[in-house]
Amino acid sequence: MALESIEGSLKERGVRLTRQRQILLELIDKTGQHLDAERLYQMAKEKDPKLNRVTVYRTLKMLKAGGLVDELDLMHYGGDQHYYETRLKQEHAHVICLRCGKVEEFFGEPLQRLRKQIESHFGFQVLLARTEVGGYCAHCQTLRAREVEELRSQPAEPGKREQGPARRPVARRR
Ligand SMILES: [Zn+2]
Ligand SMILES: [Zn+2]
Repeated sequence: MALESIEGSLKERGVRLTRQRQILLELIDKTGQHLDAERLYQMAKEKDPKLNRVTVYRTLKMLKAGGLVDELDLMHYGGDQHYYETRLKQEHAHVICLRCGKVEEFFGEPLQRLRKQIESHFGFQVLLARTEVGGYCAHCQTLRAREVEELRSQPAEPGKREQGPARRPVARRR
């Protein structure tokens, strides 16, 4: 769906695409990023200095209720923050680095397959699916390995015993 067809479907439902709504929809659509409400407000204000925070938050709510944007929490990486993205994009999973907050989008057939499997397994009609995967990106894995290495090479504080795992290794039985 292009932005024009969104306008069309809104008009059919008697919802007017006001200037504020248009500005926000375009920002969310064009940046292709996952922006939080505050960041969107700052960007929208550059386009229309008359816009205030309350209007932006209210508009986001309306766009969400109208099924035009998706509200994400991205594994709560940013605490209670919510992020917005357009529903125009093909379904995808969010892959979030829990160290630097980088978000990647995974598109692909496996998601459609998962949907179909769930539908047939439970006799369920899937309306929406949101997939989030948390972990460490390649860059952060390297940094973490280095940090662990540095910690290990540091001399232990005198008088303080190193706190290793308290439990004894359990012999594995086969
Ligand atoms: Zn990272
Ligand atoms: Zn996304």
